[in-house]
Amino acid sequence: MKKALLIVDIQHDFLPGGSLAVESGDVIIPFVTELMKQEGRYELIVATQDWHSPGHGSFASAHPGSKPFDLGELNGLEQVFWPDHCVQGEKGARIHPDIMEPLISKTETGQRTLIIKKGQHMEVDSYSAFFDNARRNDTGLHRALQSYEISAVDIVGLAFDYCVKFTALDAVSLGYSTSVLLQGTRSVDPTNAEKTKAELEAAGVRCLD
Ligand SMILES: [Zn+2]
Repeated sequence: MKKALLIVDIQHDFLPGGSLAVESGDVIIPFVTELMKQEGRYELIVATQDWHSPGHGSFASAHPGSKPFDLGELNGLEQVFWPDHCVQGEKGARIHPDIMEPLISKTETGQRTLIIKKGQHMEVDSYSAFFDNARRNDTGLHRALQSYEISAVDIVGLAFDYCVKFTALDAVSLGYSTSVLLQGTRSVDPTNAEKTKAELEAAGVRCLD
């Protein structure tokens, strides 16, 4: 069974010091880099990158009267309004160098790697690495996995209660044998962790300690 590693959104803005920092988000990095080092474990290593235009519809700043973390609506979908984050070309949008450098050097030794950008459409947010939140547009990840005959995915990254969760739910719904490696993820809101885990397991995702 060919397997891919999906590394979700390990970008500066989601790490301590960033504009939408996940508390202790950086502690997962050594675990993820160890996974990347394991020779032959993964047919493909994918890193995703949240990649918004300035003034993106998911930003509280784009909705006068709203503040970050308010719950609102975007194009008919329920939307958490976030602080501005991961704006295309800015430092906050960069994948952390501890992930990016091994990704590049592994590519040079023949490891298959891929970077998937998401969240470019102004009027819809995109938590999952596969589809936007309205499921109108896909990122091409499913086709890429199919082209390498991948049938299983291990998912790590940020954050467990948003982008990792929705990536895992889409992966299992597309028929992949799907695992989230809990040592490699953290939640925006740590009180969500148990609920997220239960929701994923109910959908058929394995959550591995
Ligand atoms: Zn975003």
